[in-house]
Amino acid sequence: MEGIKEVVVIEPLNSLVFEGKAIPGKRVNSKLFGGFCECGGIMYQKAKFKKDKFGILVSECEKCWRNQALVLSVDGELVSKVDVKVIDRSSISDFIRNILSSSEYKALISKASGGKYSYPVFSKAKRKLENMGINVNDLLGFFR
Ligand SMILES: [Zn+2]
Repeated sequence: MEGIKEVVVIEPLNSLVFEGKAIPGKRVNSKLFGGFCECGGIMYQKAKFKKDKFGILVSECEKCWRNQALVLSVDGELVSKVDVKVIDRSSISDFIRNILSSSEYKALISKASGGKYSYPVFSKAKRKLENMGINVNDLLGFFR
């Protein structure tokens, strides 16, 4: 976990992408303090993830909406602070488009909207995403 500069959080899927793998997380629903932002604002905890023996706590600043991840050891000690790139509903299609080839992306869109698509191409897309830990059925709902 050391030397990691940035992680990606896919908000609609509530997962964190780390070294090319998506890790499912737990949303923090209560307003819990998550540290101070560089802008001086207060950060609130947003989601928690687990990777091997590390915990990853993602917080968001209430003032500038910056997201930050704290990597914690089992004892809750801070190992490192990492920047977070947030993928929300408006940017999820671009994110997926960069993972898939254009024909795979087209097949995914067609499948989501109930159109015609090439089954072998779609299953290739599906395999690619599922190897990353992204559930395709969860994803399809965002492309309808
Ligand atoms: Zn801030």
